[in-house]
Amino acid sequence: MESTKPSLGTLVPEESPSEGTIVAFIEKAAQELEEREPHSRLVRLAFRLLRIHNTHANLHRGSDGDMSCIGCGLNPLGERATTHVNDCPTLMVLAGAFSGHPEYGMWARVSA
Ligand SMILES: [Zn+2]
Repeated sequence: MESTKPSLGTLVPEESPSEGTIVAFIEKAAQELEEREPHSRLVRLAFRLLRIHNTHANLHRGSDGDMSCIGCGLNPLGERATTHVNDCPTLMVLAGAFSGHPEYGMWARVSA
């Protein structure tokens, strides 16, 4: 039977190209919140969104260096709409939910 608990620490592999990205920040902030507030709705929401808005490398364990956001889809020209996951508007809003985190500062520019 599949657990409904978010699997923490599995989306960003060690030595991932996503280290230092908004994805890594959200995952870290969500894991820390989970430790303080088990069964947090925000944590579940964060991990669900990270399974949609993320890089191909993180979602499929590849490491092709493509940092575009899969969840943002394609633009009218058939190219990735968000060429770097740090520019994903969905993740920018989600990062704002963790604005109290001490490492939030660098993401404030994008979620304001
Ligand atoms: Zn996205």
